Amino acid sequence: MSFFINFTPDLVVESPGRINLIGEHTDYNLGFVLPTAIDKKITLKLRKNNSSNCNVYSLDNEKSVTFSLDKIEPSKQSWENYILGVLHEIQLLTDKLSGFDCVLNSSLPIGSGLSSSAALECGLAFGLNELFNLGLSKTQIVNLSRAAEHNYVGTKCGIMDQYASVMSKSGYVIKLDCRSLASEYIPLNLGDYKLLLLNTNISHSLADSEYNTRLQECLTGVEAMKTLYPYMASLRDADQEMLTAVKDTISTTVFNRCNYIIEENDRVLKASEALTQGDLTSFGVLMYGSHDGLQHKYEVSCPELDFMVEYSRTKEFILGSRMMGGGFGGCTINLIHKDAIEKYITEVASAYKTKFNIELDAYIAMPDHGTMLKTL
Ligand code: ADP
Ligand code: MG
Repeated sequence: MSFFINFTPDLVVESPGRINLIGEHTDYNLGFVLPTAIDKKITLKLRKNNSSNCNVYSLDNEKSVTFSLDKIEPSKQSWENYILGVLHEIQLLTDKLSGFDCVLNSSLPIGSGLSSSAALECGLAFGLNELFNLGLSKTQIVNLSRAAEHNYVGTKCGIMDQYASVMSKSGYVIKLDCRSLASEYIPLNLGDYKLLLLNTNISHSLADSEYNTRLQECLTGVEAMKTLYPYMASLRDADQEMLTAVKDTISTTVFNRCNYIIEENDRVLKASEALTQGDLTSFGVLMYGSHDGLQHKYEVSCPELDFMVEYSRTKEFILGSRMMGGGFGGCTINLIHKDAIEKYITEVASAYKTKFNIELDAYIAMPDHGTMLKTL
């Protein structure tokens, strides 16, 4: 297939990855998160091809694929399901979709917890909406992209990644209530500090199965609390007192998982307050608290992430550090003084290499706006 050679698009979409400052694993418990899109993105070039076929080529994995719009079904090739899932979900909403060609490439590390998956889904949905005047709202784009990940990829993710990718505004983080989808844009004034991502460059295969186990464990906790508090719908409605009241009826593991989620929701609210007041020191302390909970209570960290966070603790120019994303690999996010960044990267990369024999990647994440058309 060579459609992508001398490709002249009708339109170009830039769809960003995201960071989450704090609030990990709270989204599918219908709690709070604090994400923003970043300046690393997937670029999708799209054009109509006046057929009923869709041709997609990724410059990143150097793979191409063709589907007929008359027969959209899940594929054995994982990456194709992000695309097929989006097409399927759009077809449930409208019959205006027609054949297209798409070439995509990414400045976003793939599979590192920066949500290249949501960037891909949302970018494609956003682009097709424009290309074929589908009339979908941004909220519909967010929801259908998430549904694509649930139904075609099989990851039962919360709403955060897609929401942040589409709805972010430059210079703000979103305090997102994952139950009501009410959002508050909180100005992100970091002064002399920056958000540094350190990529462990590993992804343990545990991630998917453990994710689904955590989901179940949280539901078990909710079921137990419902016996005493029938109005409870999710861990979002729980507090420590309610959890303690059912302690004897649940396992220590389930107790710890719920305990972490309750604390983490609270941390997000405190962190939003700290950011609003420009109190970066308190914000950093909450980041460390988040990591401790993820490591010891929710147990989704790994030695590589823990090493990186531990390493930062003795550095006075780092205010906070924690693993970011689902866990078992990916990145840590660090609030670090701008003057110390270069030296610190060299130092921590060398220590990481010595300990694990793995190269470290480092990126400064600049908060940025959500999915947009690029002017040609
Ligand atoms: P993350 O969302 O943190 O990057 P995921 O495992 O959720 O990690 O999603 C990564 C997957 O998304 C890739 O393995 C691939 O299937 C798909 N994907 C994302 N970006 C691209 C791309 N530019 N080209 C092809 N596939 C991509
Ligand atoms: Mg993802």
